[in-house]
Amino acid sequence: MGSALPPNDAEPIALLGGSFDPIHHGHLRAALDAATALGVRQVTLLPANVPALRDPLSASAEQRLAMLKLAVGDDPLLAIDGCEIARSGATYTAKTLRGMRQRWPDRPIIFLLGADAFSRLTQWQDWQSLLSLAHLGVLTRPGQALCAPADAHFMAQRCDAPALLTTRPQGNWCSITVTPLAISATAIRSLIAERLSPRFLLPDTVLDYINRHGIYRR
Ligand code: ATP
Repeated sequence: MGSALPPNDAEPIALLGGSFDPIHHGHLRAALDAATALGVRQVTLLPANVPALRDPLSASAEQRLAMLKLAVGDDPLLAIDGCEIARSGATYTAKTLRGMRQRWPDRPIIFLLGADAFSRLTQWQDWQSLLSLAHLGVLTRPGQALCAPADAHFMAQRCDAPALLTTRPQGNWCSITVTPLAISATAIRSLIAERLSPRFLLPDTVLDYINRHGIYRR
């Protein structure tokens, strides 16, 4: 799958990275809320191939991509960029962002991540280079306090208004308040493994796909 980033070279790029194993309404609503807060037209979902910091994923990359396509449908709010899957091997966000920055030296890039992922940011490879490549938009998540790296330089780059992130290419981070939905892919996988229904936590089209392919059954 090729890049589906907004075609206008001046338009900010908002990316939501993740494993999407599977995609759920927590992701989708957060993407919509973040787009509104940032004032961008579109959020691009960026599925990781093999996330470097977690246990092996349950669904294959092809299955996760297929579920993303079903969830997105023809909604212009959302796009999918399969570049990390196409690159294969372990996924490092800094590497992905470096590639985008080389391609678009001046374009605002906002990498969105949940507060849980943000609290582990210092474990990411090359995390100190992230703000030299993009902005970070930290999505609030129920039960997860905002926990930023204890680094004076990083802390000084915080800004309070999400829309400011679209006015320059990179360099800042901001908390973005999204609808509190205590939905996680882990909980969905557990429900399916226990033969319980995860219905209404994710799109029906995605659940149909999971059922048809027998994914997440133990
Ligand atoms: P898992 O339970 O397998 O860890 P997850 O539900 O956290 O998965 P990911 O694919 O890891 O889903 O999430 C992609 C990104 O979206 C992450 O940065 C994550 O923090 C964020 N995110 C996921 N669910 C929510 C939610 N309900 N509200 C806000 N952010 C979320």
